[in-house]
Amino acid sequence: MSPFNGSANGNGHSPTGSPLVVAEMVKEKIAILKREREAVILAHNYQEGAIQDVADFVGDSLGLARKAKATDAKIILFCGVHFMAETAAMLCPNKTVLMPDLAAGCSLADMIIPEQVRAWRVRHPDGVVVCYINTSAVVKAECDYCVTSTNGVKVLEHIPAEKEILFVPDYYLGSFLKAKTRRKIHLWKGYCPAHAAILPEQVDRLREEHPEAEFLMHPECGCTTKQMDLADQILSTEGMVQHVARSPAREFIIATETGLLNRLRTQHPDKTFYPASEHATCHHMQRNTIEKVFMSLVKLQHVVTVDPQVAKQAIVPIQRMLEIV
Ligand code: SF4
Repeated sequence: MSPFNGSANGNGHSPTGSPLVVAEMVKEKIAILKREREAVILAHNYQEGAIQDVADFVGDSLGLARKAKATDAKIILFCGVHFMAETAAMLCPNKTVLMPDLAAGCSLADMIIPEQVRAWRVRHPDGVVVCYINTSAVVKAECDYCVTSTNGVKVLEHIPAEKEILFVPDYYLGSFLKAKTRRKIHLWKGYCPAHAAILPEQVDRLREEHPEAEFLMHPECGCTTKQMDLADQILSTEGMVQHVARSPAREFIIATETGLLNRLRTQHPDKTFYPASEHATCHHMQRNTIEKVFMSLVKLQHVVTVDPQVAKQAIVPIQRMLEIV
């Protein structure tokens, strides 16, 4: 079954309609399948606009985890990357969790493995291990608390002040939390390649060119440490969406993965958004396409599961986070 049956000619153009018509047809078929399958589509803010259009909820990691936990749908089609779908699978053990493309991983999450967490703990036996949600389930199973870019400060406030913290895997989010909380935090040296593409010199140039623009920065950015004092706001993707809606500013420089600009431009056609770098793109997020979303619902593929023994341990830091915020 293909959404293009009888119409596609191999280059995405339909003999009976424009690519836009075909895209609308795919979206309609997805809506029908979604009802038939009793499925819900959850999409990350970095997903392409067409996927966001068919999603029941678009948000950041924290919002998506909460929606997954709350839904009564039988199937969760998770349009994001693998660690996000794993989190949904652990929060909803009785539901089927699907991904459009299993190869959509996370380069940042891949920068630490369980053996490294265990070895780090040996060197800091009294340390509390805090992981960013951008970690695999097997790594989360070795950790004490989980955080997202939205709630890191609040979660850390729940850890006794005398405890030293081992933070994995994102060096820049960890640096941001260290500066905000003034805690003793040891930092793993992982980073997101998409956010590392945002360079301080580019940001400086854009700020000169657009002096009226507000500068919103994600804490994963490689330039966080240098630009922290300059940013009007350091925010998660969802925090940026909410800030833009509230702000009287007409122009914004957005320092995060460029996919977020789809949502901002759709919601605020009267405002202007400049990406801090056109190169801040995540090839993992871009693996998901509207066609793969459609095929996921047709074939009920690709199922994401977590080993029950791993899930039993990995759910602990996630639940601790969700109880705090
Ligand atoms: S943007 Fe970076 S942190 Fe987010 S999924 Fe892609 S590689 Fe991972």
